[in-house]
Amino acid sequence: MRPLSTKIAAIAPSATIEITDQARKMQAAGIDVISLSIGEPDFQTPAHITEACINALRRGETHYAPGKGIPELISAIAEKIAQENGIPCSPDQVVVGCGAKNSIYETCEAVLSTGDEAIILDPSWVSYEPCIQIAGGIPVHHPLDPGNFQVNDTLLEKITKKTRMIIVNSPSNPSGAILSRESLQLVADICQDHDIIALSDEIYEKLVYGKRHYSLASFPGMEDRTITINGFSKAYAMTGWRLGYAVSSKEIINYINRVQQHTISHPTTFSMYGGIAALKGPQQCIEDMRAEFERRRSFVLRRMDELGLSYAPADGAFYAYVQVNGNDKEVASRWLKEAHVAVTHGSAFNHPGWIRISYAASMERLKEALDRISSVL
Ligand code: PMP
Ligand code: GLU
Repeated sequence: MRPLSTKIAAIAPSATIEITDQARKMQAAGIDVISLSIGEPDFQTPAHITEACINALRRGETHYAPGKGIPELISAIAEKIAQENGIPCSPDQVVVGCGAKNSIYETCEAVLSTGDEAIILDPSWVSYEPCIQIAGGIPVHHPLDPGNFQVNDTLLEKITKKTRMIIVNSPSNPSGAILSRESLQLVADICQDHDIIALSDEIYEKLVYGKRHYSLASFPGMEDRTITINGFSKAYAMTGWRLGYAVSSKEIINYINRVQQHTISHPTTFSMYGGIAALKGPQQCIEDMRAEFERRRSFVLRRMDELGLSYAPADGAFYAYVQVNGNDKEVASRWLKEAHVAVTHGSAFNHPGWIRISYAASMERLKEALDRISSVL
């Protein structure tokens, strides 16, 4: 048989998913593995959201829905984006997808022509590069300032005539760093000076610890050239619901929707009713989960200090991103084999020498995991 797609052959499997699958296999074999390798809230989805979905199923909401999503959900998203993020937004500027990941992929397809360059700021989440590659674009990696994980003007050196898109992710997966106003202004200036589109992945916006989150599209001149990506997975503990969205100009949204119409059609209908309940229902659940993450964060960072490990600014998300001695892949593999703790190596984020520890696990399991790690360090 002739080889399968050369495009897919060039793409690395998702490290976060592969390591977590490996941890699951070890657990199934009876090994007590503590999995801190995937970025997934360990909380249950709040009950009022689950109830809304069950009621939708009982009502028979099991059919096709409008392509961009249920109008009530779209209106709720447009309202949230205008009120909370300071981005003027009408309902025809929203398309709901199957998770933020799906919306990011569709955006790459909608924006990039074959051979267009898209800049990724490292350390970067595992799926940006593959989404660009599948869309026929060329990923161009650029390191954030190693001292503070911010953007500096060396970014200009990566701009060419082919640069079409820059991806920013704040709060960041894996580093937890939040981009400052100055960093985002620099990105905004570069985008406007060189006619570049920005994809701003804001999936962790609600998980911030003492710092303020800014939306790139709220910067003057950025509204029409930014695609804001967000979703329900992290803020409402809804990872399995596969619900996310893209917000941008009508023109860009219509292109993203064209990709969606021919691939997923729309997200699962009854899942979208959960999304409506999430946005329109009580918001205290977000603060309760955030406060618990903050407690765990303090604990994990204190243990890192005791172990003498330095870490990136953990201002947001739920990751402690720590620098290790030696080869990060070997260190992560040793922690898994010897301590039975699964973490993700920094090389997966194009950033060797670092390890990402997700603290989206119970305090009890975190304590146990850090004791085990200390014993093999
Ligand atoms: N962006 C980042 C930075 C993430 O960490 C994740 C988590 N997988 C996603 C997007 C995708 O989230 P979703 O579950 O909504 O697809
Ligand atoms: N965003 C999470 C992570 O980085 C979930 C897994 C994934 O989609 O990559 O672990």
